Amino acid sequence: MPAAAREFAEAARGFMPPNEGEALWLAAREAPPGPVLEVGSYCGKSACYIGPALQPRGDLLFCVDHHRGSEENQPGWEWHEPDLVDPATGKIDTLPVFRRTVHDAGLEPNVVAVVGDGPKIAKAWTTPLSMLFIDGGHGEEPASLDFQLWTPHVSPSGTLAIHDVFADPADGGRPPYEQIYLPAIQSGRFKEFASTGSLKLLRRV
Ligand code: SAH
Ligand code: MG
Repeated sequence: MPAAAREFAEAARGFMPPNEGEALWLAAREAPPGPVLEVGSYCGKSACYIGPALQPRGDLLFCVDHHRGSEENQPGWEWHEPDLVDPATGKIDTLPVFRRTVHDAGLEPNVVAVVGDGPKIAKAWTTPLSMLFIDGGHGEEPASLDFQLWTPHVSPSGTLAIHDVFADPADGGRPPYEQIYLPAIQSGRFKEFASTGSLKLLRRV
């Protein structure tokens, strides 16, 4: 990954360790031509890894998020960041930070924010995806819906990237592993081809 883009991504706000981010960049660069979609953008950190990989070939990155935060981002939960609450609405709003980050990264030409509820958008979605990155809600129901509704859109030989997959319960929450990773493998539609930390990369077969 080019040094300037890597430094920017590492400094960006969000939840993506540097080694997993670089693996995401590489996966996006090596995915077949066509648009990429991420579910769960938050403040734009993962977009700063995926976006630069698509710039040379001019493909778009669609960033799906309602920008109201997951359950685990709400007040009282482990991943709450109080300064992201919009005082006017009393609700989390990560869209302004996302937008600023994408602008400052120089990614506006290729990164498209799709603001709304992931499952509703997925049901209306028709464009085949060269790569799908799932990093949305980590509860059982959101994870299961992301698997059911988004993974059919991955094109043949396209890539399914899943974040926060922990085979060992001691390392983290279960749903990305149990509701997305395992069903993807068990469906016979996907084969794992790489893994970095909690980032799993599967190929559509
Ligand atoms: N990829 C980000 C982290 C994503 S955090 C990074 O690199 O930092 C998970 C995100 O999923 C949150 O921003 C939350 O708003 C979003 N999310 C959770 N459930 C959602 C839903 N049903 N529809 C849209 N976005 C959702
Ligand atoms: Mg994550």
